[in-house]
Amino acid sequence: MKASKYILPTEKENPADAVVASHRLMIRAGLARKSSAGLYFYLPLGLKVLKKIEQIVREEMNAIGALEFDLPILTPSDFWEQSGRWSAMGKEMFRIKDRHDLSYALGPTHEESFGFLFKPLLKSYKDLPVNVYQIKTKFRDEIRPRFGVIRSREFVMKDAYSFNLDEESLDESYQSMRVAYRKIFDRCGLKTIPVQADSGSMGGSASEEFMVVSPIGEETLLLCNACGYSSNSEKTPSRLPIETVPKIFPEKKELVTPGKTTIAAVSEFLGIAEKETLKAVALKSEKKKILVYLRGDLELNLHKLHSLLKIADSEPMTDAEVRELGMVPGFIAPMAPNDQVKILYDRSLQKNFPYVIGGKKEDLHVQGYVLEKEISNLPEFADLALAREGDLCPNCNSPLKAEKGIEVGHIFKLGEKYTKAFGIQVLDQNGKSRTLTMGCYGIGVNRTMATVIEQCNDEKGIFWPIGIAPFEVTLVSITKGEDQYKKAEEFYNVLKNEGIEIFWDDRDVGPGFKLKDSELIGFPIRITVGKKFFENGEISIYNRKKDQEESFVFTDYEDLMARVESLRQELFGELE
Ligand code: ATP
Ligand code: MG
Repeated sequence: MKASKYILPTEKENPADAVVASHRLMIRAGLARKSSAGLYFYLPLGLKVLKKIEQIVREEMNAIGALEFDLPILTPSDFWEQSGRWSAMGKEMFRIKDRHDLSYALGPTHEESFGFLFKPLLKSYKDLPVNVYQIKTKFRDEIRPRFGVIRSREFVMKDAYSFNLDEESLDESYQSMRVAYRKIFDRCGLKTIPVQADSGSMGGSASEEFMVVSPIGEETLLLCNACGYSSNSEKTPSRLPIETVPKIFPEKKELVTPGKTTIAAVSEFLGIAEKETLKAVALKSEKKKILVYLRGDLELNLHKLHSLLKIADSEPMTDAEVRELGMVPGFIAPMAPNDQVKILYDRSLQKNFPYVIGGKKEDLHVQGYVLEKEISNLPEFADLALAREGDLCPNCNSPLKAEKGIEVGHIFKLGEKYTKAFGIQVLDQNGKSRTLTMGCYGIGVNRTMATVIEQCNDEKGIFWPIGIAPFEVTLVSITKGEDQYKKAEEFYNVLKNEGIEIFWDDRDVGPGFKLKDSELIGFPIRITVGKKFFENGEISIYNRKKDQEESFVFTDYEDLMARVESLRQELFGELE
């Protein structure tokens, strides 16, 4: 490909709205342009990268026997009604009507569509297992699209699904996806950590997210260096060292705490640690009011709460609703189980510890409150707190370390939610009808591309892992006059005919400009044929990742090819 015939709008300046490296560099390197919030145009160079990632995904899916499909983007509302997600999905789902007033969603994911498609296709256990996938545009009306294509509203996802007769077969499909994901991300040059994830309200039995450690990650990962345990903090069981109970208990008494409605304010005012307080979180779901009590220094993990109560959502109680319970907002005290409200105690609390609690009245707290002395019918304490750095590893008790992560892929054992909803059954070995179990497996293609840039950039620009670089090699020629241009063209033609994927910067612009552009775009290998070649036969090969240039006297094309091929092999070798 010749740059003079290409669309290559590289930019010196960073776009004003770009706060992360991948967003800045995708625009500056001429890979993509913004259309509007969460919508991007892909330019030819960016599209080449995207297509290479898609091809890697396709090859690895095919290698584990998954079959490629192509389903409509428009998904009829009936499908979603059948699974119960027409109402559950909320505003993230783009909904539209056709001219006949029929409702559709722009597919944010395709469990329902594949369910509908496969119900009549699967009849016998002999048809199983089935692994299917597509690589397709998805739509999600994200409340806050950001970080360029990392969180956009239209994006390409590889979504795969498996239909299995039993748990054992599902586990085989799941494990083969797990292995394929590793290979895919390796080939993209991306270091990922599979972490245990919340399988929450979807009702599944196992789920892992493939995370890339990055300071811009929106997820918090908790990792154990001692045993290798890794999980999303949303999912991590919270385990804390047991606090020593004081030998002499503070006397139980009321304390005046004017306007101190937060744990931080109360603790500071009383000169105590936040963990010596007991806090209440007042919520409500569609059906019930909920009061959760936990140690003052901890946060409630809503995912844990929702999956414990099997609810999709909850929201804070209003002040009036808190008062209906006989409590005062900011000064809520523990309550015994009752019919009015669902009472939950987090296991961070110790029954025999003297806490400072809310005093049920304006501007009042109570010290020396011991749960086991006050409430005779305490319920069993549940795991409801958000785990954090320093908590104990659930496997080996070592302290956990926190990292920020970007989720690039997700594998999920769904169980029977969709197969039940769509009545997907086959006859088993004994001629009995059995409902299938199902798995789903996603990879964000554009997010993968951007995350690679997050990992592979320096002050000059991007350095693409060779497996997904827009072109493996760039030829930068600096020529004067027709003859020199012709000589450079000979280099290009020979290398191209040798099967090298080459981008020739033949533009009529200054050498500095060309070299900077090639480094900004991040071609892994650069061959420079310029002034020195025409003076004394010297050319150079540059390794973008190492930022190392080697000059030598050009002897013949065979020698040049051998040098290029050796660097290519070295760069591909680094991806394994
Ligand atoms: P997130 O928690 O980041 O919103 P998710 O858990 O909702 O993602 P999944 O439903 O698991 O995402 O989708 C599978 C993959 O699709 C994700 O792992 C991610 O790589 C990609 N993806 C999801 N939402 C977006 C988005 N808004 N923009 C780009 N890629 C996305
Ligand atoms: Mg996910």
